[in-house]
Amino acid sequence: MQAYKKLLHQYELNFGFREPYQVLLDSQILEDAYKFKIDLVGRLQKLLGGQVKPMITTCDMRHLYAAKPKNETLILQAKEYERRRCNHQDLDEPLSTLECLSEVVDPKSSGTNKNRYIVASNDSRVRGHMRSIAGVPLIYISKSVLLMEPMANATEELREREEKSKFKMGLKGQRKPDQAPKRKRDDEEEGRDDQSIADGATSAKKKRQKGPKQPNPLSMKKAKKDNSTTQPAPKKTKTADTDDAQPSTAEAGAGESSGRKRKRKPKTKSDGDVAHAEATDPTSP
Ligand SMILES: [Zn+2]
Repeated sequence: MQAYKKLLHQYELNFGFREPYQVLLDSQILEDAYKFKIDLVGRLQKLLGGQVKPMITTCDMRHLYAAKPKNETLILQAKEYERRRCNHQDLDEPLSTLECLSEVVDPKSSGTNKNRYIVASNDSRVRGHMRSIAGVPLIYISKSVLLMEPMANATEELREREEKSKFKMGLKGQRKPDQAPKRKRDDEEEGRDDQSIADGATSAKKKRQKGPKQPNPLSMKKAKKDNSTTQPAPKKTKTADTDDAQPSTAEAGAGESSGRKRKRKPKTKSDGDVAHAEATDPTSP
């Protein structure tokens, strides 16, 4: 229990988890809890040491209805939980727990758990996927015992965030090569937050996250530096200079060619002036 408290505290500190803890329960863990006669919500509150808000997606609720044999007790119990609408309710068939929860926890596939869900699932594929998302506490039942997974990938993410903030402050920490691929992801996030690049960046990110992780720290470091320092500034000043210069010279030119001005003015003005000017010219020399 002590270890879990520490673990949860890490999630609170670094990912902003707060009571009541929102726990997404999948149909599998509900069935297993029933099988082992576990009071799931009661055990969750003990394990997490705080108030729990149990939630179930529309898809997982449908899984309970579709189960054979249908467990009415479990359905009644699950109806008490907060229903997490997942926008899959109009589909003919519910999505698998993996597909549905992936979307609910990380709708933009950005690798973040923005709504701070705790996922309680007894589907190992679901937990496997959730480990790739930063800051998802994972709970499961093993042999009638409720357990929380250690912070695996999330811990790495956490370390990178700390490194990123150091980097921003100009304190370049020493990086090990094996930490490099994750940092790349952070860089992309950073870019997206600052410049709000649209779909292109996020889709590229998706691919990279799923792809193999190959450490290449030096090239990435350089790329980051180049982007952040050299790119935007010079372009702007250049265009600004030329834009300013052009109109001012044009105006000056117009002013200087005073000869033209004088010739034009008499035409627009009354004939009397022209006559007057002509009249004065012969007398002056
Ligand atoms: Zn769904």
